[in-house]
Amino acid sequence: MVYVSTRGNAPPVAAGQAIIQGLAPDGGLYVPENFPQFNRSMKEWVNLPYAELAFEILRLYLTDYSDEELRACVEKAYAYPENFDVPAIAPLTDEVYDNDLYFLELFHGRTLAFKDMALSLLPRLLTAAAKKYKTSEKTVILTATSGDTGKAALEGFAGVDGVEIIVFFPQDGVSDVQKLQMTTQEGSNVHVVGVRGNFDDTQTGVKKIFSDRALAERVKAKGIAFSSANSINVGRLLPQVAYYFYAYGQLVKNGAVSPGGGVDFTVPTGNFGNILAGYYALRMGLPIGKLICASNQNNVLYDFIRTGVYDANRPFVSTISPSMDILISSNLERLLYHVSNDPALIGKLMAELNAGGRYRFALPLARFQAAYATEAETRAALKEISGKGYVVDPHTAAAYHAYRENSAGGEGAPNVIIATASPFKFSADVLGAISAGEAAKDGGAFAQMDALARVSGLRIPRRLASLRGKEVRHRAVCEPREMTRAVEELL
Ligand SMILES: *Cc1c(COP(=O)(O)O)cnc(C)c1O
Repeated sequence: MVYVSTRGNAPPVAAGQAIIQGLAPDGGLYVPENFPQFNRSMKEWVNLPYAELAFEILRLYLTDYSDEELRACVEKAYAYPENFDVPAIAPLTDEVYDNDLYFLELFHGRTLAFKDMALSLLPRLLTAAAKKYKTSEKTVILTATSGDTGKAALEGFAGVDGVEIIVFFPQDGVSDVQKLQMTTQEGSNVHVVGVRGNFDDTQTGVKKIFSDRALAERVKAKGIAFSSANSINVGRLLPQVAYYFYAYGQLVKNGAVSPGGGVDFTVPTGNFGNILAGYYALRMGLPIGKLICASNQNNVLYDFIRTGVYDANRPFVSTISPSMDILISSNLERLLYHVSNDPALIGKLMAELNAGGRYRFALPLARFQAAYATEAETRAALKEISGKGYVVDPHTAAAYHAYRENSAGGEGAPNVIIATASPFKFSADVLGAISAGEAAKDGGAFAQMDALARVSGLRIPRRLASLRGKEVRHRAVCEPREMTRAVEELL
C-alpha cells in the first residue's frame, strides 16, 4: 500500500514513512492510494477480540510492517488491564436508552478519551518505523491539542526512546481536569506549553512550524526530525477504523442487526478524524448507512455539509464541549481528496482556505448528514440521557442531540453514538446540567468529581482520581507567534 499527498506535490511513500513524517512535505495529508476490502466473511470476524480485529484491519494498510511486528504493536497497545480498564476495550452499551440506539464507549483507555484508541498504538508504530527507515537520530513529536489529544499523546510517548514530545494547548480552552492531566505529566522527554489563543491559533502555529523549511534544516543538523501526533498523521487515523467494525460485530452478535444490514453512526466531530475513519470503514465494505456529523455551536461543518460552502469566518465560541471547538477541521481535506481524486483542486481549495478562510465544494455524499447542538441543547441532552440512567460527557451529549434531530419520526437502522470521553473529564459542566443543585460551589476539579460520583453512582476513574495531589510540572505559556521560538528553546 502506497500513501500519497492530498495535494499531489510529494512523492508517494510507504505507511511507516508517512507515519514518521506526519505531514507531507507539500503541506498535504497522506492518504492510502486506494481502499483495501475487508473480505473475510462476517462469521469469521464478528467474534474476534478487539486487538485481533484491529490487527486484521491494520495489516491491510500497514503493508511495510511484518505481521509479527504489527501484531506485537497492536497487542501491547490494546492490553487489558495495562492500557484499558475493560477487557472489551471498546464496549457497546445495551439498547436500553432508546429504540435501537447504542453508545460505543471509547473512553476506557489511559486518559479517558477516545484519543487513546489511536495514541496507545501510534508510538509503537512510529518506533518500529524509525528502526526500519533509520531517518533521524531523534523524532520530536509536535502536537496541538483541544484537550484530549495532548494527554493521550503524552501518555503514549512518555519514556519512549529516541522520541521527545512537545504539546501545545490553548491556555484557557480546556477543562480543569484536562489541563491538570497535561501539566502534571511526568517523564524526561515531555514538554507542555500553554498558548494564549484558541485551538485554531494553536493548530495553525504547529502547522507553521511543520512548513518552516529553514527550521527543519536547523534541527536536522542536530539529528532531529519533526513528526505529529495529531490526526493529520495517518497513523492516528487508521487505528480508528477498527472500532467501527468492532461496533458492527457487537450488533450482529447481539442480534440487533442481521449480517449485512445497515447501521448508522453519530459522531461528535471536531477535526473530522473520527468520522473520517467511519468513512474508511464504509469504503472497505462495512455496511454503514448514515454518518451523522455532530457539531456544537462551532457549526462550520454543519453549514458545509448542507450548503457546500466552508466558511471559517465566524466567531469562535468556547463551549462545554471544547474538543469540538474547531473552525479549521483538518481531516476534511482527506475526504475532499477521496471524493474528488483531484489533488490540484485540493491544493487550490486549501490555498483559498488559508488566504480567505473560505472555499466551496459540493459534497456529493447524501450519506453524510449533519446537525449541531447549542449550549442549551447540549445541556438538555445531558439531562435527558441521565434521566434514562446513563451519564455521558458533553461531546457525546451533543451527538445525542444530533441523533435526535436526524431520526425524528420513522424507523431507521440501528444507530451507534460514539461516546468520546468520560463524563468525569467535564464534571462541573455535566453536574450543572444533570443536577444543578448538586454542583459543588467551589473546591475545584476534585470536589466536582466527587459530586458527580455521588449524583451518578459511578466510580471516579482510577487515573483521574490519582491526579489529586500530583505536582504541576509544566507552567510555560507563550503567545501563538512565539511557538516556533519555544520549540527551538526546548530543543
Ligand atoms: C477529539 C475529540 C472529539 C473530536 O474528534 P475529531 O476526530 O477531532 O473529530 C470529540 N470528542 C472528544 C471528547 C474528543 O476528545
